[in-house]
Amino acid sequence: KLILLNGELLSREQASIDIEDRGYQFGDGVYEVVRIYNSHFFELDAHLERLERSAHEIKIKLPFTISELKQRIEKLKKSNNVHSGHLYLQITRGVSPRNHAFPEKAEPVLVAYTKEYSKEPSRIPGRAMFTDDIRWLRCDIKSLNLLGNVMAKDDATVKGYDEAIFHRGEIVTEGSSTNVFIIKNRILYTHPANHLILDGITRRKILSVAASLDIQVKEESFTKQQLLEADEVFISSTTQEVRPIIEVDGQPIGNGKEGDVTASLQAELERHISRSEK
Ligand code: PMP
Repeated sequence: KLILLNGELLSREQASIDIEDRGYQFGDGVYEVVRIYNSHFFELDAHLERLERSAHEIKIKLPFTISELKQRIEKLKKSNNVHSGHLYLQITRGVSPRNHAFPEKAEPVLVAYTKEYSKEPSRIPGRAMFTDDIRWLRCDIKSLNLLGNVMAKDDATVKGYDEAIFHRGEIVTEGSSTNVFIIKNRILYTHPANHLILDGITRRKILSVAASLDIQVKEESFTKQQLLEADEVFISSTTQEVRPIIEVDGQPIGNGKEGDVTASLQAELERHISRSEK
């Protein structure tokens, strides 16, 4: 399997990353994960636009135009013959002697590779725990700095949960690598896309799918208590799609099973995915 390093397709063994790459030393970069279904990228334009926005917000200029980038990652996908899996892509500020201030001239470094799934990611109902959202205040940027996220996820994993759900004070923000939705009286609620969450591509897709199903949507924040008292809870991401959450901090949500609204959103999202594969 080949990887993409800047403009070149190389074997992983041939590729090298400098020890003074700012991505390595500071987490100074941005990334995207794009699903591949039936050898096609899903929502590629939305991911590349978000990448460009994330890079812009931290003052990195993309080393390629979006269309050049697309050409290169299409070539990567083709040469790796990926059927079902994902593309990981990251851009760092580049290589420069270690110094917090941005270097005057550093060429951004792009790395991308693909992963073929040996089995489809699990969408079976999961259990989650609440955790204090100790992350910075620019969670809208898809930054390589994921310590707050990985520590929360590890805590959840060690305790036997499938996901950690962040809250700031009483307000639920998002999951460690997912967006969080609740359904109460057939109304779908999710945190507004501001600086406190990542505006998930799957999240956006779900909101448009919900509208097409005549499910009322409110991009409004909700509390931990409202989540625990919801009829249904689910999480979403590129890799997990829609995953029901049937228990949080040991308390069952609704009747403790996947809910109807979640199931219909899941089914409609599937239809969108299979339509996009053609
Ligand atoms: N929030 C966070 C913190 C994430 O890491 C992710 C996954 N990258 C998401 C939400 C979901 O975003 P997407 O649907 O674009 O994968």
